[in-house]
Amino acid sequence: MKYYDKLIFELSKPGRIGYSLPSVCEKCAGTDSIPASLRREVPPGLPQVSEVDVVRHYTNLSQMNFGVDTGFYPLGSCTMKYNPKINEEIASMPAFAALHPCQTNLTGVDEIYKGIDKALCEITGMKRFTFKPCAGAHGELAGLMIMREYHLSRGDTNRTRIIVPDSAHGTNPASAAVCGLDVVEVKSNAQGLVDVNDLKPLLDDTIAGIMMTNPNTLGLFEKDIKEIAYLVHAAGGLLYYDGANMNPLIGTVRPGDMGFDVLHLNLHKSFSTPHGGGGPGSGPVGVCEKLTPFIDVNVSGFHGNFGVILRAYAYILMLGRENVKMCGRLATLNANYIKESLKDLYKLPVTTICKHEFVFDGLINDGARDGKKGAATLDVAKRLLDFGYHAPTIYFPLLFHQAMMIEPTETESKETLDGFIEAMRKIAAEAAEDPDILHDAPHNTPVSRPDETGAARNLILKFQDACGC
Ligand SMILES: *Cc1c(COP(=O)(O)O)cnc(C)c1O
Repeated sequence: MKYYDKLIFELSKPGRIGYSLPSVCEKCAGTDSIPASLRREVPPGLPQVSEVDVVRHYTNLSQMNFGVDTGFYPLGSCTMKYNPKINEEIASMPAFAALHPCQTNLTGVDEIYKGIDKALCEITGMKRFTFKPCAGAHGELAGLMIMREYHLSRGDTNRTRIIVPDSAHGTNPASAAVCGLDVVEVKSNAQGLVDVNDLKPLLDDTIAGIMMTNPNTLGLFEKDIKEIAYLVHAAGGLLYYDGANMNPLIGTVRPGDMGFDVLHLNLHKSFSTPHGGGGPGSGPVGVCEKLTPFIDVNVSGFHGNFGVILRAYAYILMLGRENVKMCGRLATLNANYIKESLKDLYKLPVTTICKHEFVFDGLINDGARDGKKGAATLDVAKRLLDFGYHAPTIYFPLLFHQAMMIEPTETESKETLDGFIEAMRKIAAEAAEDPDILHDAPHNTPVSRPDETGAARNLILKFQDACGC
């Protein structure tokens, strides 16, 4: 039997005990503190297992997964970088970990919020931050609500449309729709940048603003940003900056100086807090001076995910002002190093210097011949798992058919990057020779090719025993 063949429920043996609860004190024993209507008639069907069964079961399960502590993630548009252990040490100090959201008069906590607010204002060129939003998309919604409040406060009630580039992250149009705005798409030009000529005719008094990310999703710096800011402001609109991937700019360029009025950052990306599995995240929103009266939008209770904010602050302080600047520079260097080392084997639709990430459009020689199917981007991604690497983001952005978006981040050594490049070169050689090696990959993982749609749509999260409980 392999360790992952059984569920914890199937390991259960009646009477086996892993943990004993403290006995009820004499005073409480026998009292009916829980109303009869809320009490169970039958005990819950919990697995009966020993402590060592539990430890081995979950430790083994964790080994079936891929994590940033076990291997390299070339995961574009995500800044899936290493989470330094000092963040965890500080966040687990009892003085922080045992706080309750309803505790008041916490001068130390106030200082932390003030400190990170100041640091992020300095990094972005904004005036003030709210820390309530708990994810990037949540920050987008909060930021758009702030923009709406600003327009409404001026009696400007017609601004119900928002411009979003065709290269935008999918959450941008989605957040705009949730906020009740109509999305207008602006096209990219041949260089992969927002087409200013396509933008101009869209600007009128129904436009609330534009949502942009810079560098954009192709990892390219929108060099016309000053002109775009001038045009949007002249039409009475505001500029929203999707700062989820602020990584390459930190310490070098500030969105506030580019002309952006409001932005969100993803602390769980650029600022090294844990990311994945749906959270917890933090998407603080920063605003320029004229939007500060509208910053207190009610998107969540309390002050957001304090533990995450604390980790990000620890990370900023650990690096210090000078070293923070190195993150973006090294992330940019690393991305360009991989791009240049592989462009003879993978199609590179945009060849200019990239920032933190870039996009390949599949293999140059995918091995297709005599009616034999070639290797697609999905197959390359699957084969990478056999070599011990996480797959990059694939089939996004939608501008290319075989998109493979690669972002190494600054945390990786040259040796790690070289190992990844070697694996990518080997995979390209395999594809040219016999693409079936890739079609059947991965060969060495606990699960090979699950039905991905089924796995996402028909999740089975609840164990059903023989009696259907
Ligand atoms: C990740 C990402 C988002 C969304 O952030 P979440 O925390 O996943 O909601 C938005 N924009 C860009 C560019 C991103 O990379």
